[in-house]
Amino acid sequence: MRRKFIAGNWKMHLLPPEARALARAVKELAAGLPQVDVAVAPTFAGLAAVAEELKGSRVGLAAQNCHWEIQGAFTGEVSAEMLRALGATHVIVGHSERRQLFGETDETVNKKTHAAHRAGLKPIVCVGETLAEREAGRTLEVVERQVRGALREVAPERMPQLTLAYEPVWAIGTGKVASPAQAQEVHARLRELLGELYGRGLASEVRLQYGGSVKPDNVKDLMAQPDIDGALVGGASLKADSFAALLRM
Ligand code: PEP
Repeated sequence: MRRKFIAGNWKMHLLPPEARALARAVKELAAGLPQVDVAVAPTFAGLAAVAEELKGSRVGLAAQNCHWEIQGAFTGEVSAEMLRALGATHVIVGHSERRQLFGETDETVNKKTHAAHRAGLKPIVCVGETLAEREAGRTLEVVERQVRGALREVAPERMPQLTLAYEPVWAIGTGKVASPAQAQEVHARLRELLGELYGRGLASEVRLQYGGSVKPDNVKDLMAQPDIDGALVGGASLKADSFAALLRM
């Protein structure tokens, strides 16, 4: 039985004291909802303050990105080891905003996934098609390519720590949510693909999040789908009351 996992991606929002205050509210909420796993992803600038707030709590702390090297001449980058030292437990890799705006490729997503594992962070690996790809009937082909690329040479024993997030690009921050049936169709294919790569037993353990305009009024129907094990949420995770409604689903 896979536990539901809700992660809030705060993107480039909230000053450190604001992030800390929201983390406090999430921590208090999560304490009363032991059946759901929860994580928050503040900006790099907010990580230390949020880490302090979450210490000893059951809320995971995710970074939104990392570099694949441990250290070096990579101005502006942060390694997975540095994030771990700050108290991070998870890292988002391959978010579509990074793929679209910052040149992330399947290859760099793969390197970052390996770096996360090396540093002891749990990766949340994002995949998803653009509107043009969906309209051309290429959704499953695109996400399959992204998953195969991201998981290249990722050892089976690493897989239970990894979360795969299906985030159709056309649904992120647009208010256009995939229907539960559309999301389930892709999730079912992702689970099948994981089965081809790692065997059905392991595939049944990996959590698959859906992301893209998840809100309090649509979360329940999405989470009721058999292969949707949680959500990666942007906008609706920025306010304590809507985060609460997501966790209560
Ligand atoms: C995201 O940032 O991963 C996301 C899904 O954003 P939103 O919920 O705002 O669509």
